[in-house]
Amino acid sequence: MVKFLTFFSNDIGIDLGTANTCVYVRGKGVVLMEPSIVAMNTNTKEFVAVGGEAKKMLGKTPANIVAMKPMKDGVIADFDGCEAMLRYFISKVKTPKHKFVLPPRIVISVPSGITSVERRAVKETALKAGARMVRIVEEPMAAAIGVGLPVEEPCGSLIIDIGGGTTEMAVISLGGIVITKSLRIAGNEMDEAIIEYLKKKYNLLIGERTAEEIKIQIGSAYKLDEELEMEVHGRSLVEGLPKQIKINSEEIREALKDTLSLIVNAVRDVLEETPPELSSDLIKEGGVVIAGGGALLKGIDKLISQETKLPVIVADDPLTAVVRGTGKMLEEEKYFKHFPQE
Ligand code: ADP
Ligand code: MG
Repeated sequence: MVKFLTFFSNDIGIDLGTANTCVYVRGKGVVLMEPSIVAMNTNTKEFVAVGGEAKKMLGKTPANIVAMKPMKDGVIADFDGCEAMLRYFISKVKTPKHKFVLPPRIVISVPSGITSVERRAVKETALKAGARMVRIVEEPMAAAIGVGLPVEEPCGSLIIDIGGGTTEMAVISLGGIVITKSLRIAGNEMDEAIIEYLKKKYNLLIGERTAEEIKIQIGSAYKLDEELEMEVHGRSLVEGLPKQIKINSEEIREALKDTLSLIVNAVRDVLEETPPELSSDLIKEGGVVIAGGGALLKGIDKLISQETKLPVIVADDPLTAVVRGTGKMLEEEKYFKHFPQE
């Protein structure tokens, strides 16, 4: 265990997310954040693009190229794609001087809800992609450490990580996860809800990327001080021709309502199961923190706060909370005990 600490600057932390993969290099910090997407030439079975390059191809690829997401609901859905993606990202963060040193040791996060088979698959895939040694950490623990929650103390905190495919919730105290819940509803479902809403209300068909842009630009979970508007381009389901409409943030809030209430209900379930001593800690400012890209949805903190009667804060830089946690676990010995026994 102690050996793992010896200084090699190419040790890396990876947050292998459904939507984005982030990489932290020891001594350098977060060096990479790219979409978890690969593009494959179906004739040659070769991967032709990874990350941001592959995302540009989504929905626009010719017949012989498919852009796909190797992670689904927090676990690996396509092993070859995931391996190719990890291999590419690992090679990208290696500086030339690392060419001659040992392959990196990697700390990689996985959702808390996954099975031991799925966990082993992540480990083996990272080894195949070029890691020398792999340690697995649970995402909520990494997120809590990443955002600086007092995980060591006998004081409960609730971390809610809303990603692309999953929402992970955990109550943490004394360095351990007391209660955890993983919900396969997160950012992607919000995008789908927007697609459905525009289809029903305007007979307008839009793609996933447009739906995500709408969510990011004018999406909200709570009434905004100033409501927003946006022009949207899609295809009319009636004429089959390109069509353009103007939509506002109140409509999108309506579209997101059901998805958001599923997330809120799951938070309530976790609170109901939380031992009373710990739930009283959550009333303190900073007791409940939201991370993950979904934390950036406007007003999500207000909605969760209103529905749980708890003060809720959004983590700084929520998209990198988990990977910063894996980084701290690489750098600081005191966190070593949080690696689960394997
Ligand atoms: P994962 O851990 O599953 O890879 P991330 O934590 O990287 O997910 O978050 C990605 C999700 O966050 C996507 O669904 C994305 O659309 C969403 N997201 C990113 N920025 C925003 C924003 N400003 N508002 C709402 N959702 C956002
Ligand atoms: Mg995540």
